[in-house]
Amino acid sequence: MLLTDTHCHLDDRQFDADRSAVVERAFAAGVRRLLTVGYDIPSSHRSVKLAAFIPGVFAAVGVHPHDAAGAPPDYLQVLRKLADEHRVVAIGEIGLDFYRDLSPRALQREVFTRQLGLARELKLPVVIHCRESMGEVYDILSRNGTVLSGVMHCFSGNWEEAEQFLAMGFYVSIAGPVTFSKSGSLTEVAEKVPLDRLLLETDAPYLAPAPYRGRKNEPAYLVYTARRVAEIRGLSLAEVAAATSANAVRLFKCS
Ligand SMILES: [Zn+2]
Ligand SMILES: [Zn+2]
Repeated sequence: MLLTDTHCHLDDRQFDADRSAVVERAFAAGVRRLLTVGYDIPSSHRSVKLAAFIPGVFAAVGVHPHDAAGAPPDYLQVLRKLADEHRVVAIGEIGLDFYRDLSPRALQREVFTRQLGLARELKLPVVIHCRESMGEVYDILSRNGTVLSGVMHCFSGNWEEAEQFLAMGFYVSIAGPVTFSKSGSLTEVAEKVPLDRLLLETDAPYLAPAPYRGRKNEPAYLVYTARRVAEIRGLSLAEVAAATSANAVRLFKCS
């Protein structure tokens, strides 16, 4: 079995003490391909370095909406350079977050749109972070037409919303909350997303699935999310692993 964690933050400070053990545990659990995702310029640099040194690790580089206000003036040039490095497979995470509003919305929109332009220019897929901003993210992405491919990471919308992004050609990624007892509409999304558009992720060190809810998450725990998705869809764990890993390779060319 080969599972692919399409979204984690392996560079996070919380992994400083045990990073190589975390990777070993992931591999032992069958999670043998990981995409570590940048959220600002320093974390994008760190992610690129991890991808260069750890087999099975790939990187995405980008500025998260929370960090839009702190982006240096030359962030686009820096990202363009980083995207050229070995095993960098996507621009992300990028998007809009109107839940926490840590950067002014106008600035979030500007930084998001510019990075979409960069992804288009470099022909790279995008990793989209979207919180309380579904309608606007949809409008912005649809203005970029079919030239962009990507994933709605840690999807938290309902099935109707998922369908809109699927219609644009996007993938939908399911994270740990699908294992919670009150997972609500996420269960329906995990059941209905076409098997060739479904991705899995941990978003580690955040969002640990049951039975580790509230604790530090790590890529090895992807197995719990995969098992729950398999159960919801009436498939075996091996079938879900194979399909979602094939999807990750198709989208990110990470093989
Ligand atoms: Zn995110
Ligand atoms: Zn993330």
